[in-house]
Amino acid sequence: AKDAPIYRRVLLKLSGEALMGDGNYGIEPRVIEEIAEEIAQVHHLGVEMALVIGGGNIFRGVSAASKGMDRATADYMGMLATVMNALALQQALEKRGVTTRVQSAIDMKEVAEPYIRRRAIRHLEKGRIVIFAAGTGLPFFTTDTAAALRAVEIGASVLLKATKVDGVYDSDPMKDSKARKYDRVTFTEVLQKNLKVMDATAISMARDHNLPVIVFNLRKSGNIRKVIMGKTVGTLVEG
Ligand code: UDP
Repeated sequence: AKDAPIYRRVLLKLSGEALMGDGNYGIEPRVIEEIAEEIAQVHHLGVEMALVIGGGNIFRGVSAASKGMDRATADYMGMLATVMNALALQQALEKRGVTTRVQSAIDMKEVAEPYIRRRAIRHLEKGRIVIFAAGTGLPFFTTDTAAALRAVEIGASVLLKATKVDGVYDSDPMKDSKARKYDRVTFTEVLQKNLKVMDATAISMARDHNLPVIVFNLRKSGNIRKVIMGKTVGTLVEG
């Protein structure tokens, strides 16, 4: 069929910042509703969807550490922030009739299931959206790495990395008007040229396991759907 998704199972990574809208902190309810609406629509097309959400809109370990806080403690706080975002996203999705489960890498049984790989896969098979919270559960890692890790674990065909820009550029498009966007780029090039896609741990994880990554702009409505339909949107990063 012309209008059918090209992926069976995907992992969508949303940064915490995606939830703040035009603000500079926290969760903007209107924005979370919009994102949930797009995700619900795509899910409706029959794609198995897992989500990893960041926490940068609430707390970022590195920033706090640069101001003198103990890094590991700050990172654990950052992971707790992702749980708040996961719950916010969960209720917005469920309001739209999508069944979801939050699985946390840090046990918090009153608010989320523990992360159990086989159980997550079962939820996906049953058509539930699984939201992975608390990153990897380990300090000194990022939610991008958690996204690559979970994507590989659940056998996702692709990691969809939603960002604020249209894709991967040869320099920062927010600062350089001559920045050129790549349609396609290899993992090795990303690492060699230090291109801003994900941190090196996440990139090498994706590279080592042949997990393609599509970097695209979340702020343009309809983009998640386009990506799922196989339209050329953003930048494809692959081996
Ligand atoms: N974090 C961590 N381990 C992980 C994932 C996240 O320690 O596996 C912490 C880290 O401090 C990070 C914060 O959680 O700064 C929020 O996650 P991240 O910065 O990746 O969120 P995003 O930039 O996607 O909003």
